[in-house]
Amino acid sequence: MTNGQRRVSIFGATGSIGQSTIDLIARNPDAYDVVALTGGHNVAQLAQDAIRLGADVAVTAHDEHLPALRDALAGSGVEAAAGDTAIEDAAMRPVDWVMSAIVGAAGLLPGLRALEGHATLALANKESLVTAGPLIMATAQAHHARILPVDSEHSAVFQGLVGEDLAAVERVIITASGGAFRDWPIEDLASATLDQASAHPNWDMGQRITIDSASMFNKALEVIETKEFFGIEANQIEVVIHPQSLVHALVGFNDGALMAHLGAPDMRHAIGYALHWPDRRHLPVDRLDLARIATLEFRAPDEARYPALRLAREVMAAGGLSGAIFNAAKEVALDGFIAGRIGFMDMAHIVEEVLIRLDGDVSLAHGAMTLDNVRAADQMGRNTAQQVIDTRR
Ligand code: NDP
Ligand code: MG
Repeated sequence: MTNGQRRVSIFGATGSIGQSTIDLIARNPDAYDVVALTGGHNVAQLAQDAIRLGADVAVTAHDEHLPALRDALAGSGVEAAAGDTAIEDAAMRPVDWVMSAIVGAAGLLPGLRALEGHATLALANKESLVTAGPLIMATAQAHHARILPVDSEHSAVFQGLVGEDLAAVERVIITASGGAFRDWPIEDLASATLDQASAHPNWDMGQRITIDSASMFNKALEVIETKEFFGIEANQIEVVIHPQSLVHALVGFNDGALMAHLGAPDMRHAIGYALHWPDRRHLPVDRLDLARIATLEFRAPDEARYPALRLAREVMAAGGLSGAIFNAAKEVALDGFIAGRIGFMDMAHIVEEVLIRLDGDVSLAHGAMTLDNVRAADQMGRNTAQQVIDTRR
């Protein structure tokens, strides 16, 4: 803290989670000393927010955008930087609190660096836990740094566990909206278009996670995230479809009690909880009118419609570096779908093919959970997924 202000940095500031974080911080600017904001292609937004919040430094991930960022920041006193190393450097600037909201495996390294600097890490980047859960948890422990979940389901579980003994937890149930295609005939899914997959029924999110919601790869990542973050066994984690997206998760205890967390589908809820933790503060989110809502529905997910859920179970059973392979293959398959190279259901087929091809690779199954090994597994997953896509054409 400086002058009672909390020093904060936001990684992925130009994205959906980043912008919601900025919304909360900008409502109370005197409480925060903003150190670093990072973005990717959206240089105009990055510069505008960095100036508005008086950040020390603004970093774009892409070197080619540095001149534009410099121009946009000229005369403002905000430093401009570009590239992955500059993002890593920004993560090493001392702060009290960091929002990790870069999308994809690129979010891992800045998160690790922030933890090494003892910052509290508000973790939206679920890919960090999927690719390198044990590494990121061990890094937090070694540096006495705290990780607070920002994914809505995980924030809900975290809140449900306050004051409870983890040994009394029997199961955790995370809910899924079912995404854009939950009510589509299953035979139509193969021809689903990018626009159709990019429209979420309940949540307003970045395009990649929205498509991952339609395929349930998002929920697959979240099941693994639950296991890694809370140290809960895979067979204690359940997924239930809940079309209203008002119950975010439930914790089941050994006396049969189920504690549910409800709230409006607005990520400022979970972001605000992580920002103000351990306090609760007023948040500008809608209040639920239960009588008007009247009905909450739940149903079991159909694994034929959502093969990603089965793949997540296989990955958890395999352990080791298979999470890094899974996530990397998923990212490449998603790129392929966004580029129009493969169909919607092909994404799961490709990821499964990668897992089969790399199953039994000793270096992956028994490789230690180091950053170098995670990166090598990630690269192997990406290369193999690309080969699978290329040979299918
Ligand atoms: P967006 O796509 O909206 O934003 C992603 C952010 O990361 C942007 O700032 C983007 O920059 C930046 N970025 C993209 N690629 C790179 C890269 N290679 N290196 C550095 N920065 C990069 O994503 P969301 O905000 O939706 O999601 C962020 C994370 O939070 C994801 O891990 C997602 O799974 C998780 N999450 C999101 C939720 C949501 O409601 N959106 C809910 C729960 C979790 P730019 O846009 O300028 O190119
Ligand atoms: Mg979620």
